[in-house]
Amino acid sequence: MKENFLINIGLGYASKFSGGSLVDQVDAILPQTQCAQCDFQGCRPYAEAIVRGDAQINQCPPGGQVGVDALAELLEIETMTLNKEHGETKPKRIAVVDEKICIGCTLCIKACPVDAFIGSSKVMTQVVASECTGCDLCLPVCPVDCIDMIETNEGIETPFLNYYQFYDALFEKQTEESIQREKARNRFNFHEKRIARNKKERADLLQKKMVALTEKMTKNTAQKEKIDAAMRRVSESKAEK
Ligand code: SF4
Ligand code: SF4
Ligand code: SF4
Repeated sequence: MKENFLINIGLGYASKFSGGSLVDQVDAILPQTQCAQCDFQGCRPYAEAIVRGDAQINQCPPGGQVGVDALAELLEIETMTLNKEHGETKPKRIAVVDEKICIGCTLCIKACPVDAFIGSSKVMTQVVASECTGCDLCLPVCPVDCIDMIETNEGIETPFLNYYQFYDALFEKQTEESIQREKARNRFNFHEKRIARNKKERADLLQKKMVALTEKMTKNTAQKEKIDAAMRRVSESKAEK
């Protein structure tokens, strides 16, 4: 049997001694699903809000109760019950596209915070399983409902013969999870930078077009004024004759 809830045991203490700022340490505990269920636009903004005192530690459903306990452990405060108003804790899942139904509209590609989709306009889209954090954000945008979430059955195999076996398995799994979180964090940061860069490029292009249009209009106005003046001179000279 695989037990997911075991994975985060001791994570709070591990994070405390991992170095970095307090925000880094809080962020290191968060699952990096980037699902925004905590009411913040990703794990890092939520970590910053916790450290500022603007958010409670119990707002992250993907982290579950064990995640709340780990945050309490790190911050040396009383733990609290996971706030279910932010959603239910689900087993780790990944998105799978039904290629027979997909129409290649790319809406899921735009919605994915970690760029886990491959594909482009009118081409069948697929999810790179190793990059998917299971955030569900692609589900509501699909117009033909062809994305399914499937459980990955990750966790720690139980039972154990002794404590050594348990701690070995725990250490191995936590290391693996920490690498996955780091990867998701980097992909999210890259995604955010790419979106910001694209926005800036579009704004710069628009600005250039506006300048060119204004120049053209100014030029046209000047030309029109020249023509009007020439026409006036012709009529005046005709009138004098
Ligand atoms: S996993 Fe989702 S709910 Fe949890 S901190 Fe990250 S963005 Fe917020
Ligand atoms: S593929 Fe879907 S579920 Fe997976 S990370 Fe991207 S948006 Fe989230
Ligand atoms: S949103 Fe749905 S239909 Fe559109 S590309 Fe993605 S999976 Fe295909």
